[in-house]
Amino acid sequence: MNPEITIGWLYPTLMSTYGDRGNVICIQRRCQWRGFAVNILPLDRAATATEIHQADILVGGGAQDRQQEIVMRNLQGAKAEALRQKIENGTPGVFTCGAPQLLGHYYEPGIGQRIQGLGLFDFVSVHPGENARRCIGNLVIEVTAKRLAQELTAMTGSTPYLVGFENHGGRTKLGQVEALGRVISGLGNNGEDGTEGAFYQNAIATYSHGPLLPKNPFLADWLIQTALRQKYQEEIAIAPLDDNLATQAREAMFKKLRVSVPA
Ligand code: GLN
Repeated sequence: MNPEITIGWLYPTLMSTYGDRGNVICIQRRCQWRGFAVNILPLDRAATATEIHQADILVGGGAQDRQQEIVMRNLQGAKAEALRQKIENGTPGVFTCGAPQLLGHYYEPGIGQRIQGLGLFDFVSVHPGENARRCIGNLVIEVTAKRLAQELTAMTGSTPYLVGFENHGGRTKLGQVEALGRVISGLGNNGEDGTEGAFYQNAIATYSHGPLLPKNPFLADWLIQTALRQKYQEEIAIAPLDDNLATQAREAMFKKLRVSVPA
C-alpha cells in the first residue's frame, strides 16, 4: 500500500502571515521524501464542506484582523460544521495565531466588533487596542499537553521543546482546554499566565510562527503519523529523515536564548 495524505490548507490567500505556508510545504516534503503521495487542497472562500471532509491534515495560518473578519464571514453553515466534525473526530491539525483565534469562542480585534468563532477550542482572544504592546519575539515552549507530550517524547527520546517566533496583538485566555505548553522564553498566550497555545483532540493551536514545523520537524512527523493512523486505522512506520540542519538551528536558538533543554 502506498499511503496518501491530503493537506487541507485553510484560506491560503487570506491566512498565511510570517511564512506560515512553510508548515504546508514541510508536511508535503516530509511525505514525499518517504515516497507517500501527497495532495495540497487549498480551502479558500469557494471551498465546499465536501472538500473540507477530504483533508487528512488541516493547516491554518496567521492573518491580520481585517482578513480574520472576512474568513469568519465565510466560514459558516455546512463548512463550519464540516470543520467541527473533522476536529472532533481527531483529524490532526496545526493552527497558528489568527487561525486558532477564530476556532475559539471569539476574537475581539483592536478596532471594530467582536468576531464570533467556532468555539472548538475553549478559549477567548482579545486584542487590548492599537496602542497596546504587541507580543513579538522568539518563543520557546515545553509541550505540556499530556498525550501529545508523551507521544512526542516516545518519538524523539527527549523532552519536547518547540522553538518559534510570535507576533500578535491578541491575548488568549484558556477555559478548560489543555494548554499546548508552558512558556520557557517569550510571551505565549497572554504574557501573564505562562501558557502557550492549546491542544484539543489532535488539533494544535499555537502563537508560534517561524514557520513552526520546519523548525520542529518531529511535530510535522507527529501530524503525519497521526493522520496515517486515523486514515488507515493501523500503525504505518515512517522512516527517519536527516534533520541535522534543523537540530543545529534549534540548538543555536536555545543558546541565543540561554535555554537549557533537559534530556
Ligand atoms: N490578528 C491577530 C493578532 O494580532 C493575529 C496576528 C497573526 O496571525 N499574526 O493577534
